[in-house]
Amino acid sequence: MSKIIVVGAGINGVTSAIELKKRGHKVVLVDPGPLPHPLAASTDISKAVRAAYGPDEDFTVLADRCIELWRKWNTDFGIELYHQSGVLFVCQNPMQPGDFEYESCRLLEKHGHRLERFDSFTFHQRFPAFAPDRFQDGFFDPDAGYVESGRVVATLLEYAKSRSIELREGKFTALDETDDRVSGIVLEDRHRISGDAVVMAAGAWTPYLLPFTQKFFRASGFSFAAEAAEFFPAGALSIFRSRYLSDRLLRFSAKSGSGKNCKSRTRTGNVSRFFQTRGHTRRRVRFAQISKIDNPGAR
Ligand SMILES: Cc1cc2nc3c(=O)[nH]c(=O)nc-3n(C[C@H](O)[C@H](O)[C@H](O)COP(=O)(O)OP(=O)(O)OC[C@H]3O[C@@H](n4cnc5c(N)ncnc54)[C@H](O)[C@@H]3O)c2cc1C
Repeated sequence: MSKIIVVGAGINGVTSAIELKKRGHKVVLVDPGPLPHPLAASTDISKAVRAAYGPDEDFTVLADRCIELWRKWNTDFGIELYHQSGVLFVCQNPMQPGDFEYESCRLLEKHGHRLERFDSFTFHQRFPAFAPDRFQDGFFDPDAGYVESGRVVATLLEYAKSRSIELREGKFTALDETDDRVSGIVLEDRHRISGDAVVMAAGAWTPYLLPFTQKFFRASGFSFAAEAAEFFPAGALSIFRSRYLSDRLLRFSAKSGSGKNCKSRTRTGNVSRFFQTRGHTRRRVRFAQISKIDNPGAR
């Protein structure tokens, strides 16, 4: 049995801790808290769960396995954490090979999903709330849905405690290295925790916690559209600051139409989703810190 330190108690950290415990290790889970951490990507009201990943078959297969496990967790915990509401994908033009929707549809059907397909007429009959004649094509995947993500992390943390996983409040600052091997971690308050192995699961913070990972590993972020500003009252706006998050981007218009509107707020009021557009999703941003934005244009 090894003693393993898991840094970060978001969804990846808490599930790693539980799995390592199941495999017979002693586990310490470290996070500054409060938990679930209000700034963690995992702490949100909901997250979409779907196996539609365009032409990426590996992801489709993994997501199908996840959906089975979500159903099992619903049963095991006796709480409906995964809501199998189905997910609707709509297109303004007929789907074409190479499109995300077309390729998703092809792979989902290959993997046994019983999709409902639409044309402009049947779509409007089935979903009359949508503007008529606007959508020409699309499909509904009844196996997909959403999870109550913050509640999932809270539930798993309770489960972790019940399995004698030690939850330690603290902020990782460095690996404790002696004789060219890692012997634990050092916390901000200079306390040391010893361990045989360390699992870094600090989400978007991870690349910046270890000096050597900064060279090849970075977190990415999305630009934020000021059009969503009315959803975020003055003073309640926290966003991921980045060097790209300039006034210009804050005023970035939603007019491209290719964007995916991701606005939402966590239960604590932090903005955790951004307006994602074709022009900016792949743009690498330096994830520096999360702080109250002082830019009045964003309010
Ligand atoms: C806006 C948005 C929307 C998303 N939507 C979806 C979706 O619909 N469906 C989906 O499947 N996925 C979605 N994702 C992705 C998903 O939320 C993330 O992949 C996932 O939550 C990442 O979990 P994590 O545990 O790696 O990181 P996090 O949840 O961010 O957890 C990291 C943890 O590390 C801790 N930490 C940070 N620094 C330290 C330190 N120095 N010492 C100790 N602990 C530290 C933090 O406190 C935090 O608790 C979305 C992500 C975002 C940002």
